[in-house]
Amino acid sequence: MKDTPDRPNQSRLIDLFVIEGFALSSMNSIGMAGGQPWQSKYPPGYPIYNDQGDAIMNTNPAQVLTFEMHGTTLRLLLPSLNLLTLEVEGETWFSGGEIGHPLWEVLAVDEGGRQVKLHGDAGTASAEMLAGVLVLTWQGVADAATGAGPFDVRVEVRPTGKAPGITGWRIAVNNRSAWTLWSVTFPQLPHLTPSDDAEADRLFFPQGWGTELVGWSKMIDLHRAYPRGWDFAMQLVGYTRGARTFSLATHDPALTTKRFVFTHREKLATRWADFAVISYPEGMSTAGNSLLQEYDTIVAVQPGDWYDAARLYAGWARHQSWACCPQVPRAADDVQGWQVLQVPDKPMDTWAADMERLAEHVGVRLGIQYYNWHVVPFDTSYPDYFPPREGFKGLATRTQRAGYLTMPYINGRLWDINAPSWPARGAERYAAKGSSLRLNPLTLFNYREEYGSGQQLSPMCPTTAFWQDTVIDLCTRIVNELGCDGVYIDQIAAEGAMLCFDRTHEHPIGGGSFWLEGYREMLRRIREAVPSAYLTTECNWEGCTADYDGLLMWHSLGSGLIPLFPAVYAGLAKTYGCQFHAGDLAENDGAEFASRMAMLFVWGAQLGWGDLTLLLDPQYALLLDYFTVLCRERALQQATFTAGRMLRPPAVTLTRQLDTSEASTGAFDAALAPLTVFASVWQHPSGDGATVFLVNPMRDQVQVDVRITAVECANMTVGEPLQGEISMRGTSGNPPAFSAVLPPLGVLVVPLG
Ligand SMILES: [Zn+2]
Repeated sequence: MKDTPDRPNQSRLIDLFVIEGFALSSMNSIGMAGGQPWQSKYPPGYPIYNDQGDAIMNTNPAQVLTFEMHGTTLRLLLPSLNLLTLEVEGETWFSGGEIGHPLWEVLAVDEGGRQVKLHGDAGTASAEMLAGVLVLTWQGVADAATGAGPFDVRVEVRPTGKAPGITGWRIAVNNRSAWTLWSVTFPQLPHLTPSDDAEADRLFFPQGWGTELVGWSKMIDLHRAYPRGWDFAMQLVGYTRGARTFSLATHDPALTTKRFVFTHREKLATRWADFAVISYPEGMSTAGNSLLQEYDTIVAVQPGDWYDAARLYAGWARHQSWACCPQVPRAADDVQGWQVLQVPDKPMDTWAADMERLAEHVGVRLGIQYYNWHVVPFDTSYPDYFPPREGFKGLATRTQRAGYLTMPYINGRLWDINAPSWPARGAERYAAKGSSLRLNPLTLFNYREEYGSGQQLSPMCPTTAFWQDTVIDLCTRIVNELGCDGVYIDQIAAEGAMLCFDRTHEHPIGGGSFWLEGYREMLRRIREAVPSAYLTTECNWEGCTADYDGLLMWHSLGSGLIPLFPAVYAGLAKTYGCQFHAGDLAENDGAEFASRMAMLFVWGAQLGWGDLTLLLDPQYALLLDYFTVLCRERALQQATFTAGRMLRPPAVTLTRQLDTSEASTGAFDAALAPLTVFASVWQHPSGDGATVFLVNPMRDQVQVDVRITAVECANMTVGEPLQGEISMRGTSGNPPAFSAVLPPLGVLVVPLG
């Protein structure tokens, strides 16, 4: 716990606090101990509950404290300091109902496995304003019936940033008990009421590229673990109501283990949504562990939408070392797209010949991610990948000569408990260990995962030198013995940080930042061992931004996607690929494939990530040309995509032309491939000038009207399109705008300056 700074004198407090309906002289009438300063501890047993233990309506306005901080108004109810309302510039965003809602919840666990949840009404609370910071304290939080506690809790809320409506919240929980502190839920923000037009409200969260669910009835509840790049890549969630957006973001540089919670409920005619963050402290399962948050959780209400929330988060996130500071400088790369090469699918010679034909056609550099290059079956006997299949080294060499970057698959987390090396090397000792909810558990267990191979795979603890050495050895052998250019290290940015309770590992027990630190150290050591290696991983957990040459976005597809991740990390994170299958080429004129590649292109990712040799079939000639054009355009714009910033996406309206072009091979099914043109605006790395990217993935010619809404582009001049054959009419000014006719499968690149 931090020491409490000196209290200001009481006359200053009178200025700072607004006590509704009562003068300070009336304080005794609501039960304050006579003669004490009013902000001192409130007497226990304050009548907030009736005889049956039910909460009763609390109507005395003198029991409400109101705090105003740069546009944010907090109303708290005495004596528990439960939240009554959180308002921003007069608009209520959260309300705790008549009895208020606890701002936090502490979960304590004892040796017998008893779990006790504690809140502010179990302690003695006080509130004061110190140098512009609201300081709330609860002393002696305890449960008499079970003996849980005591805990002392301190919450600070401070205005942050220049814009109104943005506050930073942090909590410290001092555990003075013989119980273990298992989790702390804070802040708990209750009962956000949707707008009158709830089907226009929007929930967004960092799943994949970013996901936005439009409409109350389309929203889902979230209880997402962080870090876990598979479905929660950044520490940010938000809700847009009309022209304003609420966002909740933890600015935690250590990326400690936590969960983000969103629930929405409906009862009779009432709808409400709750937000919360659950933190897992260090020392879980040991007695007397505490939690001290040394970072702010940002509670923000801003004008605008998800993009504005992303930029607020980016203002903090882009300066963190795991985002901006590679531990070892990475070489520039010129890979524009990716082939997934399943080695057993074709004879080696056929693969090599097909890949050579593909390279010749595309004409810019591609990479190959090799799967099943090893003899053991997929997801089986890991990490015993060696020996490789016979002839694999020759295939790798031949494709390398054809210009490809060669990159075999390994898994960066898992050990098969039936691999011969599991008992031989004593690997279990270094596996991440779970625990029951228990103080001083007698038995831990190594986590097990299964991915369809029927094998039990155990995630390894990345802090152990044993696991780091294992992965370093694999990477070294793949580069040095097989002659490959790099290694794809699966799951590191995809799967969650496990709570590890193994006291023989050299890290704090339970929660904390060791998952990030272990993986960063592993990567640093791999690059030390094989400095030239091109290293990529699965999904886009932000903690891998600076250390990897590519983050594979294969999992992020379908409806509701928004470029939330590039809005934060463009120019720092390198992303690549979206999975596609043969059916995505064959059905509906390949509309699905074309749409996915269009999305990757405008969002700055390297293209592909499927079997591109399928495109060599003459029936897909148009799709192969389209893919080739995208790759070549990307090569021309590489500097912008790798070091520029993604600006607010432009407003695009389009009219499909009725006279479909000759390129169309059949009726267009809008239900299968919705009428969509993909568009983005990127600021150049110098900050001077920008470029608009448009891709029409459809087999119909379309007219688009494009309005550049990014403030950075106000008053810029619309330049001549780089595709001279495309007819375009532009108007400069604020906002710059233009109209163009995009041919089927057409790409348009327009400079702004
Ligand atoms: Zn561990």
